[in-house]
Amino acid sequence: MKIDFHAHSSFSNDSQAPIEDMVKGAIEKGITHLAITDHIDYDYDEDGVINDWDFDLDQYFEAIKTLKEQYQSKIKLHAGVELGIQPHLAERCNKLIKQYPFDFIIASLHTVDCKDLYNKKYFKTRTNAQALREYYDAYYKSVIQLDDFSVLGHLDLYLRYWEPLKSEPIRPYFDQIEMLFKHLIQNEKGIEVNSGGYFKYNLMSNNPSDEILKFYKSLKGEVITLGSDAHTPEHIGTLHDENLQLLDAIGFKYVCTFEELKPKYHSIKSLLY
Ligand SMILES: [Zn+2]
Ligand SMILES: [Zn+2]
Repeated sequence: MKIDFHAHSSFSNDSQAPIEDMVKGAIEKGITHLAITDHIDYDYDEDGVINDWDFDLDQYFEAIKTLKEQYQSKIKLHAGVELGIQPHLAERCNKLIKQYPFDFIIASLHTVDCKDLYNKKYFKTRTNAQALREYYDAYYKSVIQLDDFSVLGHLDLYLRYWEPLKSEPIRPYFDQIEMLFKHLIQNEKGIEVNSGGYFKYNLMSNNPSDEILKFYKSLKGEVITLGSDAHTPEHIGTLHDENLQLLDAIGFKYVCTFEELKPKYHSIKSLLY
């Protein structure tokens, strides 16, 4: 069994890869459980212009259904979404969550104070401490309003985009991260280990960092998924085995997949050996 629970296709605004190419790419890499998690990001800031990142979900579910049947002997395909959350979007997000039968929902905070982290303006008008406090505050305020989701996406995403934060100690923000994690643990939700930053942003680390993973473990967090955040077939499955080993070394017992928004637990030891 080999898992990738974070992958994009051309249904996302930032991927050109046809969904079937992603499925075939996953099969070539030996992935047995794949979640396609295309972007829906309402009120998304594109360099000062606010737009919805959206796509035709009926077509999406149709495509997934067809591919699921076509490749069922080779791979188990899951219908996911990477949902961009912001505190003011709860109602729209909750409507979407109810409307479609997702297996898996990644709740990701790409935008803080209506500024997309990717285009860096957010960081230029704040100290490092303010940037981090506001980020985790917005994450918490967004997440507690969601009726359902599966995991939080790339928890320390800002490390991909703002170099000075790489040397900022994270421990002073553990009070805020703890609030987030307690909410997850109480509701059987989790986090993902996202390896997408390795090659795309030369991060040399997952999101979140090992330090945050260890903190999650220390609070008895159990629900964890693996995702490459691939936008092209060649990045599917990035560091799959290495990250299983990492989780095992930290003391996690399970890695999860999701069906109909419910976690299924797979023993890490049995996947490794
Ligand atoms: Zn993302
Ligand atoms: Zn993504």
